[in-house]
Amino acid sequence: MIRDLELAFLKIHILYHATKEEVFGIGLTEELARHGYKVGPGTLYPTLSKLEKAGFLTCEARTVDHKQRKYYRITREGGSLLDMMKNKIIELYKEVIEGK
Ligand SMILES: [Zn+2]
Repeated sequence: MIRDLELAFLKIHILYHATKEEVFGIGLTEELARHGYKVGPGTLYPTLSKLEKAGFLTCEARTVDHKQRKYYRITREGGSLLDMMKNKIIELYKEVIEGK
């Protein structure tokens, strides 16, 4: 159950960063660690791939320093999903944090 909830937060976090810039595995791992999320590749890569398959991210593989790296960007659907989630976050924050 804890994992389900954390995965949901993780997905929202990824979508948010993908609206700011293109994202990739290692970069996201570092960014998420800054927020106290310890996310290993066994969680992160399948999550990115699920978001891509669902049409919320697009993926482009490029070679950087002789290594293949997958870069992800938000799609229009991903942007709409994030907006919807933002409203839910506001709603949840009002009730759970502010007690309104
Ligand atoms: Zn972040």
